[in-house]
Amino acid sequence: MKNIIIANWKMYYGPVKAGAWVRAFRRERLPKDLEVAVAAPFISLPAVRATLGRALAPVLAAQDAFWANEGAYTGEVSPTMLLELGVSYCLVGHSERRHIMGETDEMVAKKARALQLAGISPVICVGETEVERRRGNSKKVVRQQVQKAVEGIKGDGKAPAIIAYEPVWAIGSGKPCSAYDAREMHETIRTVLKKKFGSTADAIRIIYGGSVDTRNILEFLTTTDVDGALVGGASLDPRAFGLLCRAAVPS
Ligand code: PEP
Repeated sequence: MKNIIIANWKMYYGPVKAGAWVRAFRRERLPKDLEVAVAAPFISLPAVRATLGRALAPVLAAQDAFWANEGAYTGEVSPTMLLELGVSYCLVGHSERRHIMGETDEMVAKKARALQLAGISPVICVGETEVERRRGNSKKVVRQQVQKAVEGIKGDGKAPAIIAYEPVWAIGSGKPCSAYDAREMHETIRTVLKKKFGSTADAIRIIYGGSVDTRNILEFLTTTDVDGALVGGASLDPRAFGLLCRAAVPS
């Protein structure tokens, strides 16, 4: 199982800038044993795909999806629509969606299930707030988020999802979680996954997100139970992101 690095552009880069990013990124040399994906805004996905041409990386990812495949849901985008565009991965339950748009664990679970049914791997984002960590509740909060999110997901022998552990206080703050804490949290997540999926849980990648950059990526990716990274701010410059991908693999 390869480690994966997913760029999360958030609400940056419309189609024009997205195309320019991909053109620049295609010049970057990427390690063979690393999978790289880019989670672009919906409107920019066609431009990313068109600019990729025959390039195998980055793989296409979306930042959200609705739980129904069609219907009267103004403004929403469905998993099957994303599949038509060649999307392989889709974030669900990113902390910005949970805290700004009010997404609940139930909504995240429905989205994750719909994505899996459509053949897109959900990247389920979980993580505690600063207050929850200070009160010593990190493990309890994250355990519950994972349990609820995977409720409707089937473990069919293949990896049914990716889990992204993203402590809310580390996102965009320049203050990443320590590799030690990430390991502890990832172990907690793995235990929840084992209860639900049995041995299939070993094939589920648990990735870390929150102020990952070129200097700390290698430490995270060489930590037990950390199988990749979700990268926000440090993914916006294509050359710097190329450097980060190369720094993720020991030389
Ligand atoms: C994110 O938005 O998922 C993220 C991890 O952001 P950043 O890398 O900027 O902390």
